[in-house]
Amino acid sequence: MVPVEGADAVFPVRRVLCVGRNYAAHRREMGGDDRDPPFFFGKPSDGLVPPGVEVPYPSATADLHHEIELVVALKSGGRDIAVADALDHVFGYAVGVDLTRRDLQAVAKAKGQPWDAAKGFDASAPISAIRPGRAPPQGAISLSVNGQPRQAGQIADMIWSVPEIIAEASKLWALAAGDLIFTGTPEGVAAIVRGDRVEGAVEGVGALTFTIV
Ligand code: MN
Repeated sequence: MVPVEGADAVFPVRRVLCVGRNYAAHRREMGGDDRDPPFFFGKPSDGLVPPGVEVPYPSATADLHHEIELVVALKSGGRDIAVADALDHVFGYAVGVDLTRRDLQAVAKAKGQPWDAAKGFDASAPISAIRPGRAPPQGAISLSVNGQPRQAGQIADMIWSVPEIIAEASKLWALAAGDLIFTGTPEGVAAIVRGDRVEGAVEGVGALTFTIV
């Protein structure tokens, strides 16, 4: 359940999909090849952390990273959605952080193992309220820690645009109302520790603040 801005209603979440390597500069900082297309992975919907709730530092990691992301919330779905029709399925947008156990992700990558423990842990997806609206934002996406800027990008720099992400995802899954899609992060990902105050924002969507405890 994620709150909806300006309403008593909540958004009942069904699935959480995430896009990996959707900004060229982040793909480079993660050691990716410029010809590698973005790809999908998942998070459990019970890993979402609503606004105003503290985030516990997760177990089994010494390298918890922040990834600020635009999140798309769907009001409907289907299979094989055309790019031209994709925005008809958008309920609104939120600000999310794809928290990542980067050390476990590095081990998983090296061994060819899945990313579930690196990406899909408890409280791994802090999210803001959803702002209703169909049109994707086009402004800045940013994150700071304790007031120090860490990530600063532009939504326009996404490799797959919001309509393209919806179309690509619908080739792999039947999308439906309640689905959230984290759309990838710009460069500047780095570690956070207990006590850090994380502030993320997407221009035209909103802001998200939480503390690691
Ligand atoms: Mn991410």
